[in-house]
Formats: sequence, C-alpha cells, structure tokens
Amino acid sequence: MWVFVEETNGAPAPAGLELLTKARDLGDTAAVLLGQDQAAVADLGRYGAGTVFTLAAGDGTLPAAGAAAAMAELAAAEAPDLIMFALSYTDRDVAGRLSARLGRPVVSNATDVRFEGDTVVVVNEIFGGTKVVETAIRADPPALVIARPKSFTAEPGGEHSPTVTEVPFPDTGHAGSAVITAVHVEEATGPKLEEADIVVSGGRGLGAAEKFELMDQLADKLGAATGATRAVVDAGWVPYAKQVGQTGKTVKPNLYIACGISGAMQHLVGMKDSGTIIAINKDPDAPIFDIADLGIVGDLHQVIPKLLDALG
Ligand SMILES: Cc1cc2nc3c(=O)[nH]c(=O)nc-3n(C[C@H](O)[C@H](O)[C@H](O)COP(=O)(O)OP(=O)(O)OC[C@H]3O[C@@H](n4cnc5c(N)ncnc54)[C@H](O)[C@@H]3O)c2cc1C
Repeated sequence: MWVFVEETNGAPAPAGLELLTKARDLGDTAAVLLGQDQAAVADLGRYGAGTVFTLAAGDGTLPAAGAAAAMAELAAAEAPDLIMFALSYTDRDVAGRLSARLGRPVVSNATDVRFEGDTVVVVNEIFGGTKVVETAIRADPPALVIARPKSFTAEPGGEHSPTVTEVPFPDTGHAGSAVITAVHVEEATGPKLEEADIVVSGGRGLGAAEKFELMDQLADKLGAATGATRAVVDAGWVPYAKQVGQTGKTVKPNLYIACGISGAMQHLVGMKDSGTIIAINKDPDAPIFDIADLGIVGDLHQVIPKLLDALG
C-alpha cells in the first residue's frame, strides 16, 4: 500500500497521516514523500510506513509532473496494489498525471477503501452524503484512490524506522518546466479550520458582513476556528478559505456550532461527522436541527450576545 504525502515546512501533510493510518490496516505500507525532511520521514515511520520513498523536487518547480513520472517508474519496479492520495491540489494533480502515465483509472472522493480478495473496493458518498456508492476497481493494479479529508483518523502506530530510498525526478521536458513564481500564505490567527477542535460557523442568518464579528468573538472565547456557508462566502462576507461543505472544506471537530445556517445538504456533507453539533436558528423547521445534538430556536443576534456574556 502506497500513500502519497506532501511535505510542508518539514512536516508531512496531516491528510497523509490519515491515509497511512488506514493503509497500514490494509497491508505493508510505504509512503511516497514529496520532500526529503528527516523529521517528516520519522513521522511517517511513526504512522506505520515501513518504507519511505523521498521525491527530490527541483527547487521552485511545480512538482506534479516530475512526481508522477518518478512514481510511474517506481510503480513499474515495485508493483504496489494500491496508491492513495489526499484531496489537496498537488495530490490531485499527481494522481491525474499518474493515472494517464499508468493507464489506470483513478477513483476520487473516497470515504473508505477495502480489499475483496485482490479487488480494491472504494466507497464514496454522493448527493451530499445521502447515497453511498461502492466501486470495485477491476483494472490491473495499482488502484489509484483519492480520499476525502477526515475519512480516517490519524493515529500513530505500527512504529517503524523506515527504509528510505531517494528517488530523483526524471526529465519530463515541457511538462515539468512550470515553475512556482510566488506563494501567498493566507494570514490567519487561531487554529486552522480543518484541524480545529471547535468550529463556529456562520450562515446567511447573520444578515450582514459585519455581523460575522459575532462568530469571531465566539471563536475567540472558545479557542475555535471560524467557518461559513457558501451563501456567506458568495456574498463576499468572508474569504473562500472559510467555506465548509461540498465545494469547501471538510471538518470534523469535537464541537461544531452552526449559527444562522439552514442545513443544506451541500453544507452538511462538510461537517456532519463532527462530534457534537449545536445549531442556533430562528426557524424550528430548519433542516440543520435534524442532525444537531443540541438546538437553540431563536434569533442569533439575541442568543449569541447572551452566550458571550455567559462565557465571561
Ligand atoms: C454544487 C453546489 C455546491 C455547494 N457547495 C456548498 C458548500 O460547500 N458549502 C455550503 O455551505 N453550501 C454549498 N452550497 C450551497 C447550499 O446549497 C446552500 O445554498 C447554502 O449552504 C445555504 O447557506 P446558509 O445556510 O447560510 O443560507 P440559507 O439557506 O439562506 O439559511 C439561512 C438560515 O438562517 C436562518 N436565520 C435567518 N435569520 C436568522 C436569525 N436572525 N437568527 C437565527 N437564524 C436565522 C434561517 O432560518 C435559515 O435557516 C452548494 C450548492 C451547490 C448547488
């Protein structure tokens, strides 16, 4: 089982560790690390990688073309049964190119993967999580699978001191000639939305852009990250980075507080697996209450200030 893992600032992508945790239940696990940091390699060992192939990306090069070419050569030699990717931009770029190079299908948006005999079966949810589809990959291995974030919980285990093999990027000509000219890091304070233990999300019920301040205040008190619905993002009240849902981020905090959010299925699919869901909505029939553990029927402009007072 191979897991492709991007490295950022010397650390493996958290989504890669989720996939490693899953992969080690399926069989012997190798990580293909886009990077070479020793601390990242050690982390991958802690999460069960017996082997780590480190890809030496050229400085400043857009890595997908080279990574896919290197992995295609490596896969021909090592014959993995399954290669798993996360849903990030780079992972998807590499998976698509690898699919073309190997002539294998890639199944995306997986929420689970299992073997039935030698056949890889991929589970994914459609129509906002209301239907589950199982896809049996009948093509020759390796099966290429892209998994949704938070489908598996990252847990250290299967501790290894992995065997490390450095893999250079082959020359990919024009395909590999794109370079990164600038990287913009979005400034953010507080916990990251995808990793936060508590998420406070606001919807159109806030009524106006400046009312998102209520979300910030509540998040401040709780040490939470703020999220939003697409309606709020489309209205320009907050940046897209805060969008939770089908076309935004998937979150799985211990506590999700939905304020003025109706509970459209495209929103639910991004947060329904949260531990405890609290909804504040003035409409007692709002669909969000169907999945909420606790519901407050009321005007959020009255409820939230009281909550802020109570939190002190
Ligand atoms: C292809 C596609 C992809 C999509 N992807 C996403 C996605 O990733 N994420 C996402 O969120 N949406 C997504 N959507 C949009 C989704 O269908 C909904 O339109 C959106 O989630 C609604 O956002 P909302 O709950 O903020 O607004 P509304 O549906 O307008 O709900 C507002 C709620 O606020 C309540 N309210 C109003 N005033 C108050 C008040 N004073 N106090 C308390 N409650 C109040 C109302 O009762 C209502 O329930 C997608 C849609 C499509 C078609």
